[in-house]
Amino acid sequence: MKAELISTGTELLLGQTLNTNAHYLSQRLSSLGINVYYHTTVGDNTERMEQVLRSALDRADLVITTGGLGPTLDDLTKQAVCKVWNLALEVHAESLAGVKTFFAKLGRDMPESNLKQAYFPAGSKVIPNHLGTAPGAIVEKGDKTVVILPGPPAEMLPMFEETVEPYLKDRTKSAPEVIKARALKIFGMNEAQVDEILAGMLTGHSNLTVALLAKPAELHLRISATSPSEEEAWQALDALEKKIRHELGDKIFASGDLTMAGAVGELLSKAGMTISTAESCTGGLIGGTITAVAGSSAYYLGGFNTYRNELKHKLLGVRRETLEKYGAVSSETAMEMAAGARLQAGTDLAVSSTGIAGPGGGSEEKPVGLVYVGLATPEETQAQAFNFFGNREGIRALTVNAALNWVRLYLMRGRAN
Ligand code: AMP
Ligand code: MG
Repeated sequence: MKAELISTGTELLLGQTLNTNAHYLSQRLSSLGINVYYHTTVGDNTERMEQVLRSALDRADLVITTGGLGPTLDDLTKQAVCKVWNLALEVHAESLAGVKTFFAKLGRDMPESNLKQAYFPAGSKVIPNHLGTAPGAIVEKGDKTVVILPGPPAEMLPMFEETVEPYLKDRTKSAPEVIKARALKIFGMNEAQVDEILAGMLTGHSNLTVALLAKPAELHLRISATSPSEEEAWQALDALEKKIRHELGDKIFASGDLTMAGAVGELLSKAGMTISTAESCTGGLIGGTITAVAGSSAYYLGGFNTYRNELKHKLLGVRRETLEKYGAVSSETAMEMAAGARLQAGTDLAVSSTGIAGPGGGSEEKPVGLVYVGLATPEETQAQAFNFFGNREGIRALTVNAALNWVRLYLMRGRAN
C-alpha cells in the first residue's frame, strides 16, 4: 500500500507551526508496513487543496490529511474531498448531537459555524474525536482511501490510534509486510567516508535500505529491512548491522536509543571505574552530558569548570609556566588539567577540554576550532588535538563527543591510543 500525507494549514507554510503530525504519522505508517512516498503541505486555499488531493490520489492508495476541520471559513478539507470525488456533504446525526453536547457541557451556546463539523462526505465512516469538536472521517472510493484527521496533535493522535490504526491493520492483513529499523550512531567519520563504505553493500537486497542523517556532532545511519514476517525482518536487519559493523568497527559508538554518554556509562560501570572532568571551552557541557544519563552517580564524581587560567592553576594545579609557555589551548595544559582532576577528585579516569570555540579568539597559529582533549588514566596522561569546523555551538558539541568517545575507546581497548 502506497500512502501520501497531506498536511494543511497556512501556519505550516509560514513556519509558525512545526509539522509534527507528518513526523508522527510517517513513523506509525512505516511500522504498519505502509510505504509513505510523499508528504505534501498546502495552505488553507480551496484550489490548491484540490490540486494536491488530485495528484495524491493519482499516485497513492491511501491519502491521510490533517488539519482544516475547524469551524471557520478557512477549514476546507472535507469540502475539497467532496469536490474531487464528486460527493455531497451530508449531516451525521451522532456527530451533530456530539457537538451540541460538547457546548452544553461547557454551558455555552453552540455557534452556527460549528454545525459544519457534523457534515461529512457522503458514505464516510466517521472517526470519533473525544477531545474536540472536529470528528474525522474515512472515505473510500474504488480502491482508494482518504483519511481525514484534525490538525491539533492532541486530538489527531488518539483518533489515529483508536480508529485509523485498527482500520489500516485490517486493510493490510492480506499482504503483511513488516518494516524494522534501527539507528547506528557513528563518530569520527564524515558522510562521504561512510557512503563509500556502504556503496555496494545493498546491491541485490531490495528489502534493505540505509539512510545517513547528519546530527549535531555525530552521524546516524538508519538501517531498515522489509520482510513478510517480523522474525525475518529482524533477522535481515541483524545481518545487515553485522556487515556494517564489520566495516565501521568501533566508529559505531551506539545503536538505537543509546547515546554516547550512555555508552560510556555502560563501559565505566562494567569496568567498575570512576571518572571526573576538567573543562575549559566546554564550560561544564561534558559533565552535563555525562549526568544526563540516569544512574551516572555510580561512576561520575564531579568536575572542574575552569574557564579562566587562574582557576586552572588554583583548582587543578596547572603550572603557571605551562600556561605562559604553551598557552591555555595546548596539549600540555589539556594533560595537566586531566591529571589534576584525576588527582583532586581521586577518580580512575579524568577527561579535559581546552580549545577555541569562536567566533573570536582565533589566530593563525591557533585557529577557531582547535581543541585539545586530555585523558588521564592509571597508566598515563595524554592529549589529542582536533581541528573542528563549525560555529561555537557545533565546536563545543563536537568537543563533548570527542572527549567521551576517547574515554569509550580507552575502556574498550584498555589503552589510550
Ligand atoms: P485545524 O483547525 O484542524 O486546521 O488545526 C488547528 C491547529 O492544529 C493548528 O493551529 C496547529 O496548531 C495544529 N496543527 C495543524 N496541523 C498541524 C501539523 N501538521 N503538525 C502539528 N500541528 C498542527
Ligand atoms: Mg487549519
